[in-house]
Amino acid sequence: MEATRPKQEAVLDADYDVEAVRAAFPALQQDLYDDQPLVYLDNAATTQKPQAVIDRLTGYYTRENANVHRGVHFLSQQASDAYEAVRERMADFIGAPEAGGRPAHEQIVYTRGTTEAINLVAATWGRAELQEGDEVLLSQMEHHSNIVPWQRICEETGAQIKIIPVTDRGELVFEAFEKRLSERTKLVAVTHVSNALGTINPVEEIVRAAHEAGAKVLVDGAQSVPHLPVDVEALGADFFCFSGHKMYGPTGIGVLYGRRRLLDAMPPYQGGGDMIDEVSFEDTTYAEVPHKFEAGTPNISSVIALGAAAAWLKEQGRPRVRRHEKALLEYATERVREIDDIRLVGTAREKASVLSFLLGDVHPYDAGTVLDRMGVAVRTGHHCAQPLMEHFSIPGTVRASLACYNDRSDVDRLVEGLRKVRRMFG
Ligand code: PLP
Repeated sequence: MEATRPKQEAVLDADYDVEAVRAAFPALQQDLYDDQPLVYLDNAATTQKPQAVIDRLTGYYTRENANVHRGVHFLSQQASDAYEAVRERMADFIGAPEAGGRPAHEQIVYTRGTTEAINLVAATWGRAELQEGDEVLLSQMEHHSNIVPWQRICEETGAQIKIIPVTDRGELVFEAFEKRLSERTKLVAVTHVSNALGTINPVEEIVRAAHEAGAKVLVDGAQSVPHLPVDVEALGADFFCFSGHKMYGPTGIGVLYGRRRLLDAMPPYQGGGDMIDEVSFEDTTYAEVPHKFEAGTPNISSVIALGAAAAWLKEQGRPRVRRHEKALLEYATERVREIDDIRLVGTAREKASVLSFLLGDVHPYDAGTVLDRMGVAVRTGHHCAQPLMEHFSIPGTVRASLACYNDRSDVDRLVEGLRKVRRMFG
């Protein structure tokens, strides 16, 4: 018997046509294992791509492919213009401000993703600014990519890492954060939204307190940009990073926003073509920002398709997407609570998109495997947040993470699957 997706019984937000949003994603139209309609709830790992993004990517390779910044010929100039136009679009997308009379988009650096953006800041700003006696403040809920680069640079420079603890709800302990701030704190690096728990951190307050103490703030926006309207000027962040593939764009591309005056003072990241002003064996001078940080042929096609993803998401109305996902998360939280012996991990008052849980003694991997056979894609494990799992004294969780195209029927299928897990594992 062929399973079909039930129609939505009731819309969550009359203003938001989730069926139409979903129809834009070809990958979501498939059945797995012959007859199980795909229920994709692994969006914190990566999102599916709308047709507009796929078309932009193939359109570029079909008609427009050329290297950027180097050619006088038509295709190269066209590719360069498209590549640079996305910078302006991304600056607008995150509300980057003008700086010192220079346009906002000069503070947008293309990277491979959030991970590379953080490594870039650690290897350039960190190496130049940190020294023995300095401290870098991280939260207990950071993704490994906002821990390991700082560990490495602290080992090298003699600076020390200090930790902001979390409560059992998965919220930062703000008083502990304020206590740990001192004149030794050079950087506070925090995630905007936790990928493992969904907690939305009070970034504006964190930035205000950090700045009062004279520290800079790096915000990991990998899980916020796809789900919340983000305004880096309002947040006040000095650095802000995110990944294209988690916001309906391609893999291998991300953005580092940095304040102009910090980027100007930072040494280059990698050496090579495109990041120089002039090269001689005696003395090499570097290009202005942002090109100083973009050595070699960049990921041109993905930059251009990232622009299409940002345009697509903006068109859906980011506040509307937020409202839809928030209502759906509330529905999902209520529904999974119906299941015996469920333990929600992460019950912060402000959350986005993520539902992490354990089902009695069932190993998350077993639960994930049963769900998979029903076409329900979730993630299991530590979610690259082992220090956070340690806080909860667990090896990992089952994580269902929502996106703009999910609806109540997806949640209902998840709950049906969890009931089956319960029956199978007692
Ligand atoms: N930070 C957070 C909060 C994440 O969720 C992730 C990915 O899951 C990353 C950083 C790393 O992103 P990427 O692998 O795209 O570099």
